[in-house]
Amino acid sequence: MDRIDLESGFSIHDYRAKLKLLNDSGATRTLENRRELRCPACNRAFDRLFVSERETATFETAPDRPFCLARTDEKLLLLTH
Ligand SMILES: [Zn+2]
Repeated sequence: MDRIDLESGFSIHDYRAKLKLLNDSGATRTLENRRELRCPACNRAFDRLFVSERETATFETAPDRPFCLARTDEKLLLLTH
């Protein structure tokens, strides 16, 4: 089982076979974990991954499940479990 590695940044292309793109608005994307990829923060398999290249993010509704945050120099990642 692979873990998302952020050491040299994050590119969806590195995990294309393992993530299903649900929503793409250019600077933000939501993806579904289809092959038990593991979270870079807690090392457990996650459910959904939100990736943003913006400096800020606003969520109108709180996730109803545990979530982790991770960042690279360019991107903010939110992973729900
Ligand atoms: Zn996690």
